Amino acid sequence: MSKQQFQTEVSQLLHLIVHSLYSHPEIFLRELISNSSDALDKLRHLTLVDEKYKALVGDGIDSPRIDLELNEEAKTLTISDTGIGMSEEDLVSHLGTIARSGTKNFLSQLSGDDRKDSNLIGQFGVGFYSVFMVADKVEVTSRKAGEDKTFRWTSDGKTGFDIEEVTGAAARSSAGTTVLIHFNEEGSQYANSYRLQEIVKKYSNHIAFPIFLTYDKSEWNAEKKESEKKRVTEQVNAASAMWQRSKSELTDEDYKEFYKSITGDWEDPLFWFHTRAEGNLEYTTLFYIPAKAPMDLYQVDYKTGVKLYVKRVFIMDDSKELLPPYLRFVRGIIDSEDLPLNVSREILQQNRILTTIKTASVKKILSELKSISENDKEKYAKFIAEYNRPLKEGLYGDFANRETLLELIRFKSTRAEGLTSLAEAKSRMQPEQKALYYITGGTENMLRNSPLLEIYKKKDIEVLILDDDIDEIVFSTIDKYGDTDLKAVNKGAASEDLKDETAPEKAAEKAEALKPLLEKIKATLGDAVKEVRPSARLADSPSVIVSDEDEPSARMRQMMRAMGQKEMPEPSPTLEINPDHEIIQKLLADPSNGRVEDAAWLLFDQALLLEGVPLKDPATFVQRLNRVLNQSI
Ligand code: ADP
Ligand code: MG
Repeated sequence: MSKQQFQTEVSQLLHLIVHSLYSHPEIFLRELISNSSDALDKLRHLTLVDEKYKALVGDGIDSPRIDLELNEEAKTLTISDTGIGMSEEDLVSHLGTIARSGTKNFLSQLSGDDRKDSNLIGQFGVGFYSVFMVADKVEVTSRKAGEDKTFRWTSDGKTGFDIEEVTGAAARSSAGTTVLIHFNEEGSQYANSYRLQEIVKKYSNHIAFPIFLTYDKSEWNAEKKESEKKRVTEQVNAASAMWQRSKSELTDEDYKEFYKSITGDWEDPLFWFHTRAEGNLEYTTLFYIPAKAPMDLYQVDYKTGVKLYVKRVFIMDDSKELLPPYLRFVRGIIDSEDLPLNVSREILQQNRILTTIKTASVKKILSELKSISENDKEKYAKFIAEYNRPLKEGLYGDFANRETLLELIRFKSTRAEGLTSLAEAKSRMQPEQKALYYITGGTENMLRNSPLLEIYKKKDIEVLILDDDIDEIVFSTIDKYGDTDLKAVNKGAASEDLKDETAPEKAAEKAEALKPLLEKIKATLGDAVKEVRPSARLADSPSVIVSDEDEPSARMRQMMRAMGQKEMPEPSPTLEINPDHEIIQKLLADPSNGRVEDAAWLLFDQALLLEGVPLKDPATFVQRLNRVLNQSI
């Protein structure tokens, strides 16, 4: 026997499970049964597609089932399956480490507050280790399909585990896994057949494989006139593919229970969409939206949560082909009647049937979300709090559904409390308002205080605050909502809309008077700016930086540099000056003023600072500021 240590993350997780999850210890059974079900799914698929495994059916591979065997006296329970099994290496890596993406991230979010942490862990999924809430010793005996050796993993869930080969009567006669639980004090309540039946029905009724319970049943012996114990084996679950039943037969509880059994989530899902398509293609989909975004949502190696079945036979999970990446938070199943059972991953990638199902599924999910957004605003707000951002990714990648996605996404705004939709913003447009405006490129606070918003405030025009780091990239590709223009206020074109057209002559006169000063400022700043021009969008600030329509903003360039992007050719920004501002008025009144040079740089640098762009030469800025300060004191 060799003693092995748990990976640090496992020890941390174990500690957490035992110390903060005591409120629902019964879920250990759901987790173990779902692992057995997964193992049976995997093996069944292999026996369909692989000759090697096909040949073993009946000789090394038994028919799929899950068996619970209770020994009330010894306070032990075994959960056995005839699934794919684990080799020695599998036991070490699957039950001694956590390979799941998001583990580190998850652990780093823990606060040490048991109640908060138990919520987090619910989203993360507890898995196999939950068994240590109810056990002081667990033995996992397993034989991998296609191999002859049986290995046993033993642990007390504290320090580490032992692995040994077992032979003779202790070895398994066919592929599969047996988990033997020695209940601890907390767990001894489960050494009870009624309790076990109840839990299996509650959490695992719709597992597709039969679950049997073997236990000592009290039966009345009419002859002897006394009750006696008889060892019996009874099937406990319905073992039906629940998604194949009609909606009218299913209760909310059925849906929730099934969701929990496939995801390991503790919380009820926000909503689900169950669809059966008939006609050209026949398939059933059952999609769930988790109440909390999955832990690995923003991890590159995220796990997807939709399983593919063909005629109720599991084919694969974690396939990125089933839904577009931006819907990676969706959980559930797709069950097709038309795909071949032996379909492989490679074939799926360009399979016409799957493409059709995928397209229809996305449409379905989005249209269901749309109707929730219209009919149940409160529920929709919960959805948006978790998933607004992935939807924005969709805006960037899913051209076909852009219109719907634009309706679904929500925005911060200068006019609305909380979040608003584009439709709502449109309904609030002023009669003379030419477009819907938004501002990007900073934190919410920076954006709300940006000088670019002054004129809009004055004119009582709403501006959407887009403070997500992907907003600028996403929205630079979108210039219309229906037939209404969408414009960024920091881009040149937006200011065209603001020009005062009532007095064109006066404006021209004003521009003429300003020209020498603007030329002077441009001459001072040189190549640091592309252009210096009068601004129509400022009210209280003297200057602002703007970008051209097709150029990334100063802030965006900075972000791309931070992301390791090669130095982008840096077009100099355009500086806009507020002709009505007191500082500019003073400079205009005294053309020979010797302070134009300092003023030009300060106007430029302050505009950069408000854009959130660090100054290239802060020392000179400070010297200049002090010089001006000194002169004015
Ligand atoms: P998850 O099921 O989310 O992967 P678990 O902690 O429940 O996480 O299980 C860890 C891994 O251990 C599984 O992914 C699987 O590879 C392996 N495993 C657990 N139980 C079984 C079983 N009964 N048969 C085969 N493999 C199993
Ligand atoms: Mg599991």
